[in-house]
Amino acid sequence: MLSEFDLIKQYFVRPARPAPLSPRAQLGIGDDCALLGITPGQSFAISSDMLVEGRHFFAGEDPRRLGHKSLAVNLSDLAAMGARPAGFTLALALPAADRDWLAGFSAGLFALADEHDCELIGGDTTRGPLNICITVFGEVAPGQALRRDAARPGDDIWISGTLGDARLALAGIRGEVALQEDAQQLAGARLHLPTPRVALGRLLAEGALAHAAIDISDGLAGDLGHILERSGVGATLDVDALPAGPVLATCASGHAALRRAYTAAGGDDYELCFTAAPARRGAIEAAGAACGTPVTRVGRIEAAPGLRLTDGQGQPLELRLAGFDHFGGGQ
Ligand code: ADP
Ligand code: MG
Repeated sequence: MLSEFDLIKQYFVRPARPAPLSPRAQLGIGDDCALLGITPGQSFAISSDMLVEGRHFFAGEDPRRLGHKSLAVNLSDLAAMGARPAGFTLALALPAADRDWLAGFSAGLFALADEHDCELIGGDTTRGPLNICITVFGEVAPGQALRRDAARPGDDIWISGTLGDARLALAGIRGEVALQEDAQQLAGARLHLPTPRVALGRLLAEGALAHAAIDISDGLAGDLGHILERSGVGATLDVDALPAGPVLATCASGHAALRRAYTAAGGDDYELCFTAAPARRGAIEAAGAACGTPVTRVGRIEAAPGLRLTDGQGQPLELRLAGFDHFGGGQ
């Protein structure tokens, strides 16, 4: 039987890493608190995200994918702030100390953590219904942080990567659409293994290229709505300009309504939506190319409040878009 402390030691404490990889954790797992240094002139960007079985993932979900996704959704918040990952804590409620589950979960978690040089510095472990809560710490110069309240009339609206494949995969799992096995696998990778756009967020912040940003977790229309509300502005969004994921683009050819709904309000995309002055177009394209993340211009921030949707010809579109709201229903 694995004790709480053996479990932590075996699956979450790692050998000391070479100095350049983790200069910020002065004291890691094993004491009452971790000590995290900070670079002078920087602020901590801090965010928590909780994943609950039955709510955010299905019972029996592959533990490796779950380890990846638990950290990915947190790193995505750092990306949306333009912050550099520094470390994270992990609060874990487990129904049982299952060695196979722990080995898979920690492998998925640390593979992504190492990719972003983000160290596990502490946490808590308890018995209970499966629940994973990560708090991530990043660094950003306060004047460079990409805040939701910083969009300005005249700004372009940009999207990183593609939208809609994660929602399509969920629809396939739920039997709302019929997908071929390979299409389900491909789209499923976007749902289960999201890619946090950390490098792009940092380039946008450090180069002062963008004004406002948010990561798209609950669907673009709703998440962009947060920027509009916090910034006291409105926007027009060209729904047909939204970059559809490759699986959605193929499956929904001839189904404009499905493509529009899943790109504009799908959820679980973990792409960045950001606003920037038109003078920055060239620099933003270059930043996207530099980090291998495509960027697409999809609309314009305007002074008049509200979100106006148009088709590719600029004609108004009436879409009933349900973003995700844990207490209000939705998708
Ligand atoms: P305390 O009783 O002071 O809360 P714990 O006994 O819960 O401390 O934890 C012992 C050490 O192990 C602490 O440094 C804590 O941060 C770390 N820890 C506990 N659970 C985890 C976990 N799931 N991942 C990483 N570190 C953990
Ligand atoms: Mg404790």
